[in-house]
Amino acid sequence: MLTAELTARFKDRIRDVPDFPKPGIVFKDITPLLQEPDIFRAAVDHIAARHADSRIDAVVGIESRGFILGAPLAYALGCGFVPVRKPGKLPARTVRQTYTLEYGTDALEIHEDALAPGSRVLIVDDLLATGGTVSATLELVRRLGGDVLEAAFLVELSFLGGRARVAELGLDIYPILTY
Ligand code: AMP
Repeated sequence: MLTAELTARFKDRIRDVPDFPKPGIVFKDITPLLQEPDIFRAAVDHIAARHADSRIDAVVGIESRGFILGAPLAYALGCGFVPVRKPGKLPARTVRQTYTLEYGTDALEIHEDALAPGSRVLIVDDLLATGGTVSATLELVRRLGGDVLEAAFLVELSFLGGRARVAELGLDIYPILTY
């Protein structure tokens, strides 16, 4: 369990940047948290402790802030790290998943040999908003035969309904902080 004091310290290190990347969006900037060694470590340790007995085979991190949290988490758990990236970034053969945004579509890719069938996977990203990004990642992992135990985030923006959207796909989420 996170203490109220630690929760307050996490929130204190997440900066609201209004109108980024476009008008009307309040961007939750985690870079102040990353600059604070004990808070950064506490965030990674908290998720690692939660999954100490989960027998995770791979942490799947979503580009790009999911890499920042996912790599130390994989190190702490003693498992592999698998990147999910924007199209054209991964060098070997990939599987691609397209998903809809408010306006238009986007896509994510994973290396087709990144996960052995039956792998136990923890997905990690910095923030859950509408849930589109993590849903596409879930689909990629499932297409490779992976079994996703949970998706962990630093932040959930609960008013955007991502939790309910991904629950319909059978995905549980675990955010450290909820707004
Ligand atoms: P979504 O697919 O709507 O759940 O959006 C989640 C993805 O977009 C994550 O990779 C986040 O890093 C990023 N994102 C969406 N909204 C925000 C926000 N308000 N602040 C920071 N990152 C965001």
